[in-house]
Amino acid sequence: MALPPSSQEMIKEAVQQILLALGEDPNREGLLRTPERVAKMFSDVLDGNHSRPPIPTTFEELDGVPDQVVTHNTPFYAYCEHHMAIFTGTVAIGYVPKDNRVIGLSKLVRIFRYYCKRPTIQERIGMLTIKAILAHTNGAICQITAEHTCMSLRGIKSAGARTTTLTFNGAYSSNADLIHDFKKSIKNG
Ligand SMILES: [Zn+2]
Repeated sequence: MALPPSSQEMIKEAVQQILLALGEDPNREGLLRTPERVAKMFSDVLDGNHSRPPIPTTFEELDGVPDQVVTHNTPFYAYCEHHMAIFTGTVAIGYVPKDNRVIGLSKLVRIFRYYCKRPTIQERIGMLTIKAILAHTNGAICQITAEHTCMSLRGIKSAGARTTTLTFNGAYSSNADLIHDFKKSIKNG
């Protein structure tokens, strides 16, 4: 999906204003198409509120399934809603299959990325991801580790500092072994 033309037009105008506020000449060659380029970029990376959420459909019932499925080391980026600054890192998502059915691995990542594509915070992405997955499983877990440019460029200027959030529900809430195994999978993989 993309942002509608009217939204892209609004972004273009806003970027033009920011350039003026910075004391730039928006008509100099290097900046001439910048508002348009930023609008296109935001349309690509921040179109979540104009898209449908992916449905975590499951495959047909199998004879048996693993106790837990974990996909990890998946890179991502998102924009923090407090500064509109990028944060980037990796995510690990795990779930406990229900009724002998598994979810497509790329679907797990697609659900996660859907929640990245709007101004947001790391904590909320993890929470919404496991909520979406729980309906089709017996439990979901999401560990996100990211570096926030709003922390490394400004404020306390802590370049390299990373933030990890661990969010889980369902079977993970009552069985600490599942969390232990999840962490072991991430480490060993
Ligand atoms: Zn921030």
